[in-house]
Amino acid sequence: MSDLPSRRSVLATSVLAASGFLTLDTGRAQPLSPTPECHDGDAATLRQTEGPFFKPSSPERAELIEPGLAGQPIDLVGFVLTRNCKPVAGALVDLWHADDKGAYDNSGFRLRGHQRADAEGRFRFRTIVPGNYEGRTRHFHVKVAPPAGRLLTTQLYFPGEPNNRRDGLFRKELLIRTAKNQGSLSGRFDFVLDMR
Ligand code: FE
Repeated sequence: MSDLPSRRSVLATSVLAASGFLTLDTGRAQPLSPTPECHDGDAATLRQTEGPFFKPSSPERAELIEPGLAGQPIDLVGFVLTRNCKPVAGALVDLWHADDKGAYDNSGFRLRGHQRADAEGRFRFRTIVPGNYEGRTRHFHVKVAPPAGRLLTTQLYFPGEPNNRRDGLFRKELLIRTAKNQGSLSGRFDFVLDMR
């Protein structure tokens, strides 16, 4: 009996799964704190190049999956925080990435969108896992703009990717924590802006 999860923990897990706050570090879904995991004086999130495919003025939307789009869906969720763990309400989070074949849409806005963090600093996107492309492992591109303060431009990476070690830009500090629950994939990343 002791191996069976209690009804309460099953319920808690499904609530967390629905909110996307899960991690897969041990190979099975485990609830991840729905509050930011941060410490006073945390280092700011690493900056990375924006690359050649950024386009300004993306649509404001959380849902990037369009009818007919191929690829593994993923919920990307997290917080935008200051270095002393304060939520940055209203921070603009702009996401753009390749499709599952590794191609960017440079004529339109497919797989491009932005959201504003809510009062607790949370953001959420529903999109697909990008493909690898020439010289690059799977990655998301992100810009995070606080209402006042310096813009963060960076990239996010996926755990367990064989191409990570062949990509000179890859940094483990920028790994998303992923979890799979009943076939649905979640990713979590908290951004720390270089501000107090
Ligand atoms: Fe790229």
